[in-house]
Amino acid sequence: MTFSQENQKDNVSLAFREMMAELGDGSVALILFDPNREPFRVIYQTTWKELIDQGWLEEHEVELQTRYRLKGAGWIEGLWRVGAYKDQTLEQKMSGLAATLKEYVKGRERDVVVLFHKLVERTGLPEGWVFNAIESSLLSKLWNMRDASWEERGTLVRIPLNFGMKLLDHTADIRADLEMMRKELETAKEELREVTCSFCGAPIIGQGSVPVSEHDEGYYVAYACGRYDTDAYGEQACPSDPKFPKLEEYELVLRQNPKDPVFKWTCFPQPKTRNAGLLHLSSGYGRTEEEANQKVVETYHQAAKPWKR
Ligand SMILES: [Zn+2]
Repeated sequence: MTFSQENQKDNVSLAFREMMAELGDGSVALILFDPNREPFRVIYQTTWKELIDQGWLEEHEVELQTRYRLKGAGWIEGLWRVGAYKDQTLEQKMSGLAATLKEYVKGRERDVVVLFHKLVERTGLPEGWVFNAIESSLLSKLWNMRDASWEERGTLVRIPLNFGMKLLDHTADIRADLEMMRKELETAKEELREVTCSFCGAPIIGQGSVPVSEHDEGYYVAYACGRYDTDAYGEQACPSDPKFPKLEEYELVLRQNPKDPVFKWTCFPQPKTRNAGLLHLSSGYGRTEEEANQKVVETYHQAAKPWKR
C-alpha cells in the first residue's frame, strides 16, 4: 500500500502526539512503544522507519517483539510537535533546571560531577523530564548555551564550569553561506545571460573556432537574431542593439555591369559611419538601377528586423 505524502506527514505528526502523550513526564529511556498495540496500531510501518531514519527513534527487539523508543532529538521534536514551545511551563522547567545547574558550579574552578538523583531532588522537577533534558541537551538546543551532559547515563551528570555561557553564534556562518550561494546564483544568471543575446534574448545558434590567419584561431558566437561576435573579424550587431546601423549610414553606390546578360546593375552599400561596419550588408543586383537599389534596401530591412521569441 502506498500513501500520499500529506497522509504520511499527518501520520508522523500523529505518531509524535501519541508517543508524547504516552511518555508524559517519563524518561525516554524507560518508555517503549509497542507498534502492535493501541494507540500505535494506526501508525504506518513506513512512519516508524521514517522516524528512525530521521534520528528521532530507535528500534529494539524486546522478548522477540519490536519496540520503539524516543531518542533525545526525538523528544525535542516531540515537544515541538505537541506545541510545548508555546507553553510557559516548558520555559519554567528549563529556567528551574538551568538555575540549579548554575548553582553547582558557582564559585568553582572546574567542572562538577553530581549524582543524577540528587540533581533531580534539588530541581524539584519530574525525574523523567530532567533525564530527557540532559539526554537531549535541551538547554543547549533551545537556548544555545553550554549545557550539562552525562558523565554516566542516568547516574552521573557533568556540569561544565562555563555552564550557561552562550555558544558561538553559528547563524553568522549560515548567513555567510547564504551570501555565498546568492553570489553563485548571480554568476549562474550571468552565465545564462551569456548564452542568450544580451540585447534581445535570442539563443546562440552556433559557436566555435574560426581561422584568423594561417596559424591563429579565433572564436565566434552566432545568435538567432543575426548578432555575430568574434575576436577575429567581421562582427555583426544585434538588430536591437542601439549601435545597429540605420540605412542612412550607407551610401548606395550603383555600378553598371555591361557584360552581365541579365543583371546590368549592381548596388554597393558603402558604410559611411563606424556603426555601419557592424552589419555586413551585401550588394544588390538588378536589371535596372532601381531594382539593384531595392535589393539592398530589402536586404537591410530583413537584417534590421528584431528577433522575436
Ligand atoms: Zn540580439
